[in-house]
Amino acid sequence: MRKPLIAGNWKLNKGGKDALELSRRIKEGIGDILNVDVLICPPFTALAEVHEVTRDSPVKLGAQDCFYEMNGAYTGEISPLFLLDVGCEYVILGHSERRKYFAETGDIIGMKLRAAIGVGLYTILCVGEKSEERESGGAYDVVKTQLGGSLSDIPDDYIRKITIAYEPVWAIGTGKTCDPDVANEMHQFIREWTGKRFGYKIAEEMRILYGGSIKPENISSLIEKEHIDGGLVGGASLKAESFLEIIRTASEKNKLTTDKHG
Ligand code: PEP
Repeated sequence: MRKPLIAGNWKLNKGGKDALELSRRIKEGIGDILNVDVLICPPFTALAEVHEVTRDSPVKLGAQDCFYEMNGAYTGEISPLFLLDVGCEYVILGHSERRKYFAETGDIIGMKLRAAIGVGLYTILCVGEKSEERESGGAYDVVKTQLGGSLSDIPDDYIRKITIAYEPVWAIGTGKTCDPDVANEMHQFIREWTGKRFGYKIAEEMRILYGGSIKPENISSLIEKEHIDGGLVGGASLKAESFLEIIRTASEKNKLTTDKHG
């Protein structure tokens, strides 16, 4: 059974003191929930201080991006090594906002994956189609191209450090959630693709998250689907109460599934 992961992507929000306050409340609020992995991804500038809050707690720390070089003349960039230094275990790569506003291509994302995993980070690779691509029936082709574009040249054993997040672009920050059955079908397709490329055993173990307007009210219907192993949460991760409610629901569902299967 795959342990659910609920990850909060704070984007360009909660720098400084607000980050400390939110991370403290999340840490206190998760109490003894251990059957769900919880990850928060604050902005770069808050990582070191937030690590002081989350260290020695079950809350894991991640960044929202990194560069593919370790050091050098790359003004403004952040090395994967620097993320390790400030206590990160995870990094999100290939988010649709990076693809859209920073022209990230599959190649670039692949280079970032190799660099991040090479130093020991876990990665969350985001894929997902735009609304016109879904409407024209091209969603599967888009996701397949994104997977191939970033994962084709990844060393086989690196897949253990990759979680894939299916995030239909039209559902991100819009309040429109993907129908859970439609999302589950795409997750199954991603698992099948990964199985063909990296082997079916590891694909079966790999977590695939859904992302796109997850809220306390819809997490239950998503996470109960066979291939949905958690969520990448944007807006609803910015308030401790809504993020904690999502985590509690995932924990509750996980218990039910465990009980059902003995
Ligand atoms: C995201 O940024 O990855 C995301 C899914 O955002 P939201 O939950 O706000 O749609």
